[in-house]
Amino acid sequence: MGRNFLMVPGPTNVPQRVQNAMHRNSEDHRSLDFPQLGFAALEAIKRVFQCRQGHAFIFPGTGTLGWEAALTNCLDPSDQVISVRFGQFSHLWIDMMKRLGLRPIELDVEWGEGLPMDRMEDLIRNDRAHDIKAVCVVHNETTTGVCTDIPAVRQLLDKYQHPAFLMVDGVSSIGAVPFKFDEWKIDLAVTGSQKALMLPAGLGFVCASPRALERSKTAKLPHVYMSFQDHLRSNVDGFFPYTPSVPLLYGLVEAVKMLEEEGYESVWARHHKLAEGVRRAVRAWNLEICCREPRLQSDTVTTVMLPPGIDGVQIVKTAFQKYNLSLGAGLMRLRGKAFRIGSLGDLNELTMLGALAGVEMTLRDCGYRGIQDWRWRCGGRRVLPAACFASTRF
Ligand code: PLP
Repeated sequence: MGRNFLMVPGPTNVPQRVQNAMHRNSEDHRSLDFPQLGFAALEAIKRVFQCRQGHAFIFPGTGTLGWEAALTNCLDPSDQVISVRFGQFSHLWIDMMKRLGLRPIELDVEWGEGLPMDRMEDLIRNDRAHDIKAVCVVHNETTTGVCTDIPAVRQLLDKYQHPAFLMVDGVSSIGAVPFKFDEWKIDLAVTGSQKALMLPAGLGFVCASPRALERSKTAKLPHVYMSFQDHLRSNVDGFFPYTPSVPLLYGLVEAVKMLEEEGYESVWARHHKLAEGVRRAVRAWNLEICCREPRLQSDTVTTVMLPPGIDGVQIVKTAFQKYNLSLGAGLMRLRGKAFRIGSLGDLNELTMLGALAGVEMTLRDCGYRGIQDWRWRCGGRRVLPAACFASTRF
């Protein structure tokens, strides 16, 4: 009984307003008045990326399709790209690069660490022939809860005047934390509908800079369904080159309206506060956060490491079966050793407090005895979580 507490880092809760906006009959996507919706959706997602100069594409699909669209529209077979493996999603993107016939230079780091900026700098500095065509980074590795300092990657490319494209996976970050496509001079950024945008899965979004759009006229990796050029020819009149999911487009417009009513800065502040609450709870439970560097700790997902003898799979199972609480499992090499708490989308302090209480109950049920004091460290004192959330000191 009770509502399911959906606390995985995507898919996220769909607000009632968005559900209502999507609840409608099919419409003719070639009708004269369709462009009103088409333009509204295209412009809305462009604002979410904080892009003015380029173009944001809407594809039927998910983030994975967005990866493929970004790579195939702007690269040639055998192109060299730099990519860092620091969790499951960066791993899968690298796997896709290889299967598409690209030549990724794979940089591995311990899971829980961020990008190896010194190794990346060596590669960029030594590539005087500009053989490297793209640097592909995941902004928020949903496996580990480790973020990437995107402006620092941009600065690295600028420092050596290296023309490689900066491609960013923002699937679990865009719309929840600061993301500035134009300002950070990103060439291609990818996200999906089912995370910060509070929609069902079903749309993949790719934002492309003018430079990337130009490149898409000649790039030779095969792409048909996701062709930027086909989309541009239709999007210019507010249409799509094939049947779009009309309900999802209405949902997108409504979801972005909600984000803009709250204001992007406030949305980012809310996510920071909720994630900071999760981090304080984890510390109070005497557990470790997977992301070692506090500066890189994600505001959308916290990966909680478990001590030997406490099984992460059991934690996720117990939380669901006993408390109707959905937590993220540890992925790949973190399977069984960790679990994840999502803190993105349609959430507030009360949802978070309920979820954290559920996690604490589950930890106890699963034999964890390390919780001595549920109070959090807040402004130099130990206070109850509710008092900490109510304060404005986050
Ligand atoms: N990239 C990141 C960072 C993700 O978290 C995910 C999914 O969770 C993906 C890519 C893949 O996206 P999708 O499942 O929408 O294809």
